[in-house]
Amino acid sequence: MTLSDQVARHARRTPDATAIRHDDTGTSYRDLDQQAGRLARVFGERGIGAGDRVAVLAHNHPVIVVTLLACTRIGAIAVPLNFRCVAAEIEYMLSDCGAVFLIVDAECTSVAAAALPGAGGIRGGLVVGGARATSLPQFDNYAVTLAATADVAHESPVDERSPALIMYTSGTTGRPKGAVLSHLNLFVQVTSRIAHSGTPTTCRVWLAATPLFHIGGISAVLHSVYLGGTLVIGGSREFDPAAIVDMFEREKVSSCFLVPQQWQAVCAVPGIAERDLSALTAIAWGGAPASTTLLRTLIDTFPGAELSTSFGQTECSPVTTVLRGADATRKIGSIGTPLLNVEVRVVDADMNDVPQGMVGEIVYRGPTVMSGYWNNPEENAAAFRGGWFHSGDLVREDEDGYLFLVDRLKDMIISGGENIYCAEVENTIAAHPAVAEVAVIGLPDSRWGEVPHAVIVTRPDAVAPSDADIEQWCRAHLAAYKCPRNITLTSELPRNAGGKVIKAELRERVQSDNK
Ligand code: ATP
Repeated sequence: MTLSDQVARHARRTPDATAIRHDDTGTSYRDLDQQAGRLARVFGERGIGAGDRVAVLAHNHPVIVVTLLACTRIGAIAVPLNFRCVAAEIEYMLSDCGAVFLIVDAECTSVAAAALPGAGGIRGGLVVGGARATSLPQFDNYAVTLAATADVAHESPVDERSPALIMYTSGTTGRPKGAVLSHLNLFVQVTSRIAHSGTPTTCRVWLAATPLFHIGGISAVLHSVYLGGTLVIGGSREFDPAAIVDMFEREKVSSCFLVPQQWQAVCAVPGIAERDLSALTAIAWGGAPASTTLLRTLIDTFPGAELSTSFGQTECSPVTTVLRGADATRKIGSIGTPLLNVEVRVVDADMNDVPQGMVGEIVYRGPTVMSGYWNNPEENAAAFRGGWFHSGDLVREDEDGYLFLVDRLKDMIISGGENIYCAEVENTIAAHPAVAEVAVIGLPDSRWGEVPHAVIVTRPDAVAPSDADIEQWCRAHLAAYKCPRNITLTSELPRNAGGKVIKAELRERVQSDNK
């Protein structure tokens, strides 16, 4: 069953059920199925067929869901693009995936127009909303085109192992890579997560508030659409925590995934304790590390909801391990245990399994793992050594089989021959009463090779800590070599749309300040 097969089934069985809510407007399953059929017909009439790439550059909007469904009907591959990117980045992704068609929202037309000349193969496109966009005169209007298209579905048989999506990774550790995810990858991901969490009995309304160009946002789409629930599409250009809380209450949201920074902002919304959030039974966080201080705040702020940690990466569709239920408190800080159908090993550099309790890289195999990166033989060779997908994440397993993230391989600091895991140091500093946020980076040092350096955002109501305060705090909890000798205070950490600190940028910033 592909996603669009499932929507067609809901359209037959529950045609009037609300599939999508966006900007106070509802779309029923009947209408969603019809829109997907019409867009698939538009694709067919423009010569787009199986295996062709259709890019969509839009803020969170139902058109992204319709594009995904329409592509699925004809075996084309949807490529959601990051609306925060500049023209050169969009150009890179369009030409990397060889997109032939572009659907773009009116607000993104100037970036798209600047990207198109270098992108090569785009044969046409549609503009969503707004007046006719002068920057893309060759594109047609989405709504007008769909309204003028025959209401007859256009379908081709689709092999479940063929690509459904190309999702570009966040680019936290380099240039974004196009992870190719098949229909089967997505289907197994959803069913494995349901098996792990018992979702259908508790959830009916999913809020997609993280960007739909990231797999975290697409996950909400997959769950609600496969299960015939309602997808509330939120998430404006700037994340607005008060608007999210309003949406929880107004739309009776039952399930929501946000990255840690977003949950932190939501928990700080004034008066949240007095709001009626009784419908919210499942809250999930992931995508970037969260301090145990934040996790305790989350547990206290949402006592009626089950908290779950989702861990994984775009390449694995994305979730590989989950921590939930009573474990969220009992094993606080853990990333949980592997999902059904996700084969996991923790290995050293020679692919030997490391003993329980020791740190190794987590590698994956199974039906949720991508077939590879698009157009990227070198990265594929590096990522799939020995037949396993190498995550680049260092973990350790405790005596009960629960996994703990230790660091990303690329972030690990080697100081005087000792490994320092930034996540451990960050978690220690985050517990300091004056600290709101912290990131630890390695800086070059003539004696030790690298030394840890902490960049700290102070709580607004606290006195800024000194280098000595932080060193003293760390020394009470960590071995001396792990303690940052110097800190930089800043008002904000540079983060990407997935909530991850962009450490390369931070390192450059600190080094140029130190010159
Ligand atoms: P790139 O590969 O381009 O650098 P990226 O790895 O940041 O991008 P994503 O797929 O968005 O791309 O992120 C996956 C990474 O996010 C994981 O490898 C892991 O390091 C981190 N991550 C995911 N979930 C969690 C979590 N619950 N806690 C901590 N870190 C997480």
